[in-house]
Amino acid sequence: MQDTIDIRSANAQHMYHPMIDPKVVQAYPPLIIERADGVYVQDIDGNTYLDTVASLWNVNVGHNRREVIEAIKAQLDKLAYYSTFQNTSNPPAIELSARLMRLFAPENMRKVFFSSGGSDAVETALKLSRQYWKLNGQPERTQFISLRWGYHGVHFGGASINGNPMFRQAYEPLLPGCHLVESPYTYRNPWNESDPARLAQLCLEQLAQLIEQVGAGQIAALVAEPVQGAGGVIVPHESYWPGLRALLDQHGILLISDEIVTGFGRIGAMCGARAWGVAPDIMAMAKGINSGYVPLGATLVNERVASAWDQPNVPAAMMHGYTYSGHALACAAANANLDIVEAENLPARAAEVGAYLQQALQSLNAYAHVGEVRGMGMMAAVELVKDKASREMLLPPSPYIQTLVGAARSEGAIIRVQGNRLILSPPLVFTTAHVDETLRILHKAFERAENT
Ligand SMILES: *Cc1c(COP(=O)(O)O)cnc(C)c1O
Repeated sequence: MQDTIDIRSANAQHMYHPMIDPKVVQAYPPLIIERADGVYVQDIDGNTYLDTVASLWNVNVGHNRREVIEAIKAQLDKLAYYSTFQNTSNPPAIELSARLMRLFAPENMRKVFFSSGGSDAVETALKLSRQYWKLNGQPERTQFISLRWGYHGVHFGGASINGNPMFRQAYEPLLPGCHLVESPYTYRNPWNESDPARLAQLCLEQLAQLIEQVGAGQIAALVAEPVQGAGGVIVPHESYWPGLRALLDQHGILLISDEIVTGFGRIGAMCGARAWGVAPDIMAMAKGINSGYVPLGATLVNERVASAWDQPNVPAAMMHGYTYSGHALACAAANANLDIVEAENLPARAAEVGAYLQQALQSLNAYAHVGEVRGMGMMAAVELVKDKASREMLLPPSPYIQTLVGAARSEGAIIRVQGNRLILSPPLVFTTAHVDETLRILHKAFERAENT
């Protein structure tokens, strides 16, 4: 048994935390969360916080959902784990695969490859897209295109298509043959174009040029998030995704939709691509698939992609897979989680409460260091700037950001600032009352930060 003193000191001593300098963890000990219920979490001192970020964009059905917990327990009593390699399987994985095909029938999805998280799901998407072209007699199609500010996890493939140097520099050299195009980011773009429709057009023209330059015959796939998440909640104009799909179709290039944040309701549709009226060829999913109760990733492929493996007399072994592909507990958690997503119609709820959230957040524009407030459904970003005119990023370490996060915490909410963006990604079970509570706390935090 350990007392709380041991837990505190042992944390910084022995454990690396993702996405932070270990020295900073030593200097500013992390908040240690011990229990949680619904949209609230509690630290080891018994303080309660509103979870405005659903932990990491993922606890969509909320914490401590008994339905999910009971499903995991029931599964654990029968079978914790058995491999799905080659020719063994387990019931929860099979049930989940059938359910995913039903949920994404409008996108014409036909098969799923399971893994243990988002980075795995992206890696699987990249590898299957390369194999697809080899099976289809175009083995020179190996290269990838992605968007500036895009985030696709941390494996070498995902890092290679990451659109932010911050995630790449320490680990280069990365995969060759990866190209970035500009993102439809109205607030910051190289053309200083502030009209979203015209910007979408400029981005697509640049993409067309790149395809011309590299040669479509060299390109396997383009990877993009329907709304860029970690990159700062960048919402494209409604013409962007249909334009993207049309352009890629013209050149036969596969469209991989990274749905790891947008999948299962966050922007108001069962998947993000559907919100834009587009059917991708491959979808990478994780996070909301089981709200983080047990690690799980899933890569879905449509009829077109799946058919490459159907060709008679073409050897097509998938020499890819994870020990925990189709983990029974993770899949049981997903089945129970998706029961809730469907029964409570969380995509529609995210659209409704999300509209209220986006409207309410606009009041933050009153603060001197708020450059832009933007978002869609249940994801939003507040862009922090040195001043509104220059739009220069207000970056950590900054006393302003420290005060903002600290004040929110002392007022009873966990908020996250990543770079110069305050990100909000609440559980999809958030109510308008929770939104009001968030805004009350944010206003207090901004008032305190503005006075530092
Ligand atoms: C979180 C995330 C990933 C990576 O998922 P992990 O489970 O952290 O490996 C990939 N893409 C997007 C868009 C994400 O938000």
